[in-house]
Amino acid sequence: MPHLPLRLAALGLLLTGLPCAAAESLPARLDAAIAGLEPQIIEWRRDFHAHPELSNRETRTSERVAAHLKTLGLAVTTGVAHTGVVALLKGGKPGPVVALRADMDALPVTEEVELPFRSNVKAEYGGQQVGVMHACGHDAHTAILMSVAQALVAVKDELPGTVKFIFQPAEEGAPAGERGGALLMREEGVLDNPKPDAIFGLHVVSGTPTGEIRYRAGPFMASNDWLSIKVNGRQTHGAWPWNGVDPVVTAAQIVTGLQNIVARQIDISKEPAVVTVATVNGGIRKNIIPDAVEMTGTIRTFDEPMRRDIHARVKHIAEAIASANGASAEVTIDTATTVTLNDPVLTERTLPSLVRIAGKDKVRVSPRVMIAEDFSYFQEQVPGVFFFVGVTPSDEDMSKAASNHSPRFFVDEAALVTGARALGAVAVDFLSAGAPAAR
Ligand SMILES: [Zn+2]
Ligand SMILES: [Zn+2]
Repeated sequence: MPHLPLRLAALGLLLTGLPCAAAESLPARLDAAIAGLEPQIIEWRRDFHAHPELSNRETRTSERVAAHLKTLGLAVTTGVAHTGVVALLKGGKPGPVVALRADMDALPVTEEVELPFRSNVKAEYGGQQVGVMHACGHDAHTAILMSVAQALVAVKDELPGTVKFIFQPAEEGAPAGERGGALLMREEGVLDNPKPDAIFGLHVVSGTPTGEIRYRAGPFMASNDWLSIKVNGRQTHGAWPWNGVDPVVTAAQIVTGLQNIVARQIDISKEPAVVTVATVNGGIRKNIIPDAVEMTGTIRTFDEPMRRDIHARVKHIAEAIASANGASAEVTIDTATTVTLNDPVLTERTLPSLVRIAGKDKVRVSPRVMIAEDFSYFQEQVPGVFFFVGVTPSDEDMSKAASNHSPRFFVDEAALVTGARALGAVAVDFLSAGAPAAR
């Protein structure tokens, strides 16, 4: 028999009923269900990690995802945007619709991390045989969302609303000549019947301690536009430049001229921007001035009017400099990804859920991030929040962690269950709060 003070304490707990009530609340039941799935999350993630598949080629992954969702008794649609899988869970009570998204594709990267489940997979990419690796952590995202689906099914009788699970292919971009990813899923109606009232997604990131969460209201991740410029001159001997039009000097002036856009012409006190020329190709011999030079690069912005302004300036500067040199410039700008823009009201509403799971001191505002994420295409039609979950062991030097997309990218598996619990919490809290006010 325990000592009297202990017995009194136990009686106090019974009388207040707090632990019992907390254990029975829907968010607490869901959280416990997800926490109980941690070994399974790790097992799924290791399986996906050992069997990575490139964008639009996620057949094995999507088969496994679909099989799991069918086992849960969900209505499953496969083949969305090539290999995407969508499932719907109708809760036992009326309420809003929330969508949760995970991406499934891997990258043409040869893994250098020593793991028992390290990838030895090779595949064809751009006409070459390449190593394939989950170097962006989408294996983690897929495993996380599978566990959240299982746990939500376990509490479905109490669930006030509907959950749409979106397993997306080709977030890293479809292969040349193909379409894919979030935009194609959207075009194929993934946000219809029913239309979600909100959408949530997460990304594992290195350089942030395991289990810590980073978020940002408003513009969070940049838009990405691919830039290509062809400078057409006129071929001549390298000793007689006056007999031709030199596209090399013209291209050099264009590269320099484009730097003025960010440095001198746009208001970077409003939002940052980047204009990068990353490749310059022209000529084959040291004394032959070529006909043409081709350049490619990327434009990153956080604001749509600023983005359009930069596009116009790139075009104008390239064409005007070419013209001044007697050359011409063909400018092509292809949108890869729009701005990942977290709805400010929804972000505010979501924050307590993230804090409840990770702890107040482990949920912090992130700076803007210049890399891009096609979750943005869902957010264009549905208010959404995207957040980061740290995966670098907290005793490591964060500044030295290999970044996402590196052959040495490493995911601390202890972070997986935090990611799953956070995604589950934002979903169930959103549904429990009822339909959002008209916006
Ligand atoms: Zn990536
Ligand atoms: Zn990614």
